[in-house]
Amino acid sequence: ASAADVILSARGLSKRFAGFVAVNGVDLDVQRGSIHALIGPNGAGKTTCFNLLTKFLQPSAGTITLNGRDITRMPAADIARLGLVRSFQISAVFPKLSVLENVRIALQRRRGDSFDFWRSQTVLHQLDAEAMERIDEVGLSSFTNETAGELSYGRKRALEIATTLALEPEMLLLDEPMAGMAQEDVARISALIRKISANRTILMVEHNLSVVADLSDRITVLARGQVLSEGSYEVVSKDPRVIEAYIGA
Ligand code: ADP
Repeated sequence: ASAADVILSARGLSKRFAGFVAVNGVDLDVQRGSIHALIGPNGAGKTTCFNLLTKFLQPSAGTITLNGRDITRMPAADIARLGLVRSFQISAVFPKLSVLENVRIALQRRRGDSFDFWRSQTVLHQLDAEAMERIDEVGLSSFTNETAGELSYGRKRALEIATTLALEPEMLLLDEPMAGMAQEDVARISALIRKISANRTILMVEHNLSVVADLSDRITVLARGQVLSEGSYEVVSKDPRVIEAYIGA
């Protein structure tokens, strides 16, 4: 693949916490349009890596580029504007508001439009039409006026995804999208991730390996802060170093 096909790239990414190296020289290339998973045993450095890529943490060393642009020193908020959005960034779903109101608020936050702009009736009309599109996209049309706090866990996650989609991300970073999900919700959210990946790039940290196997085009396996293996699920799951890291963890 050519460099132009890479949307997000890290070189020599490292993070040191008080002498402990949590991420140690990670190189990562995420192909545009792919679903890429970051896996590895507990303590491998996945969360730290994720936080570095979304700028929640500042790297001790290394560089990160988004569409060829160096974002290493850029604040998280600016990165969202460039199209890189992390799942829980906005996903503090407001429990007392309806599904529609939650998505509306997310849409209003986009581009930091002024309040005055949103007071025009035409704009409000447009806003609701767009909110309905997002709600429909995540399969919550029949729950539009339900209170968010009363949705099932899986549907809440779907609503969170709708609010992140409202920011029109080119790339979504999902932090353990299946965490705490019941089996039927896992299937539902898997289908949703596959659907939204049709015109977006996705990087996810996920523990559920059958989900990873099912969804990922490419997998990076971390262990002790370093890249242990990379490739398709077929490749990494047969890699003796990966098997050893999981068993030895
Ligand atoms: P994973 O997500 O793969 O389980 P983490 O990125 O959470 O791994 O953690 C990697 C290592 O870095 C762990 O040993 C963890 O204890 C350590 N670590 C993570 N965050 C901090 C921190 N803020 N201060 C000190 N050590 C940390």
